[in-house]
Amino acid sequence: MPPNTMDTAPSLESCRALDAADPLSPLRAQFQLPSGVVYLDGNSLGALPQAALASVQHALQQEWGQGLIRSWNDAGWIHRAQAVGDAIAPLVGAGAGELTVADSTSVNLHKVLWAAIGLAQLRGRGDGPARRVLLTETDNFPTDRYIAQGVCDALDWVLREVGPAPGDHAQAAAIGHPRSSAVMAALSDPQVGVLLLTHVDYRSGAMHDMAAINRAARAAGVITVWDLAHSAGAVEVDLKAAAAQADFAVGCGYKYLNGGPGAPAFVWVHPAHVDAVEQPLRGWLGHAAPFEFDAGYRPAQGIARYACGTPPILSLTALQAGVNSVRAADPLGGMAALRAKSLSLTRTFIRASQAAAQAHGLHLATPLRDEHRGSQVSWACGPQAPDGYSVMRTLIERGVIGDFRASPRPGQPDLLRFGFAPAYNTHEEAWRAAQALGEALRHVARQGPRAAARPAVT
Ligand SMILES: *Cc1c(COP(=O)(O)O)cnc(C)c1O
Repeated sequence: MPPNTMDTAPSLESCRALDAADPLSPLRAQFQLPSGVVYLDGNSLGALPQAALASVQHALQQEWGQGLIRSWNDAGWIHRAQAVGDAIAPLVGAGAGELTVADSTSVNLHKVLWAAIGLAQLRGRGDGPARRVLLTETDNFPTDRYIAQGVCDALDWVLREVGPAPGDHAQAAAIGHPRSSAVMAALSDPQVGVLLLTHVDYRSGAMHDMAAINRAARAAGVITVWDLAHSAGAVEVDLKAAAAQADFAVGCGYKYLNGGPGAPAFVWVHPAHVDAVEQPLRGWLGHAAPFEFDAGYRPAQGIARYACGTPPILSLTALQAGVNSVRAADPLGGMAALRAKSLSLTRTFIRASQAAAQAHGLHLATPLRDEHRGSQVSWACGPQAPDGYSVMRTLIERGVIGDFRASPRPGQPDLLRFGFAPAYNTHEEAWRAAQALGEALRHVARQGPRAAARPAVT
C-alpha cells in the first residue's frame, strides 16, 4: 500500500449497507436539509434542526410578542444560557453547572486566557523564575492567536508559538500530523505558564492527544486552555478525565452543535479553580446579584461569573434546538456512537476519493489514524493539482458543499475541506461526494482554472 492510502474504494452498495446498519440513522430526520445537496460543511455551519423553526417562532411570537418583559421570568429567559450550558456539558465531559453559554468563542477566549494567566500568577508566587510565556501553535486558528497576542500585550506576557521554523516549507506542508509531542517538549521551559491549543485543527482535522498533553502540562505546572470549536458534538472529549484534567475550555455553538449562524459560544472552567480568579469583562450579568444594582462589581460564584451582558435569547433558543439535536443521540449510544460514525464516514470518504485525488496531485492533509483524526477530511492541493478554488466552486455548483481554505503561508498548500456531521451525514453521501470530487477534478483539469472573484466568505 503506498503511503497516505487506505484500502480499496468502497462500492455504493457497501455504503448503503453501512447506512442501513447505522444505529444513528433516525437522527437525520431532525434536520431540514435542501434536497439534491450533499452538505459537508457542518464544521463551519451546522444544518438547521426543524425544532429550531418552531422554538424560535415560539420565542418570537409568544415569549416576546405576548409575554414581553415578563418572559425573563415566565419563559425562563434568565436561566436559558445555563440550561443550554448544562445540555452541552455532558458532550465534553463537564458536570452540570460547570459550563455556560455566552458571547462568541473569540470573546470567551479573551476571558479564559486572562483568567488562566491570573491563575498561573497566583500559583507561581515564590517558586522559581516568573512564568510569563503563553504557549500556542503557529497553525492555531487566527482568532485564537490574535486574542492570545492581545491578552499577552495587555498583561505583559510573551506569546510563543510551536510550529515549523520560518522558511521550512517541508515542515510547513506536513500539516497532517498533530504536533502533540512538539507541544509537550515545549512545556519544559519553566517560564511557560499557560498553554492554549485547539483540540482539532481547523485546516487539517488533525486531533491532539488531549489527555497526554494535560498530564504533561500538569506535571510542568502549566495551565491548559482548550478550544473545542471542531470537537464539541463531533469527537469525544473528557475535560475532567480522572488523570488528565483540563483547566479551561471554550467552544463554538454553530458548528457541530447546529446552533445557527452566529450562535453564542460556550465556556468551561474547572470547578477546582473557577472561584479563584476573575475574568476581565465585568458585566452586570456576571455579578453576584445583578438585580441589586450594586455600585461595585462582585463576581458571581462559579461559572456564572463568565457571563457578561444580556444573552441573545433568539440565538440561544436556536442553539438549544441544535444541542438537543445532538443529545438526541443519547439513547442511541451518545457521543461514543457519534464518534464511531464520524470515523466511519471520514474513512469511507478517504477510501472513495483517494484514487482520483492522488491522480490529480492532491495529497491527504488529514491523519489516517483514527486517534489523530477529527471529523473532517482535507485534501491538500499539490503543485500539479488543478486550481483548488475552481474545484470547490465546481463541486458546490453540483450540489456537494464543502469549502476551500487558501494557503495561509508560503509552503502551505490550499485545502479542500469536507466536514462530516455524524448526526446527519450518511455513507452514501460520502460516496457521492467522492464521485463528484473526481468529476470536478477532471473538469477543472480539462478546462483550466476559472477566473472568478472570490466572495467575502469562502
Ligand atoms: C470557528 C472557530 C472559532 C470561531 O470564533 P468566533 O468568535 O465564533 O468567530 C474560534 N476558534 C476556532 C479554532 C474555530 O474553529
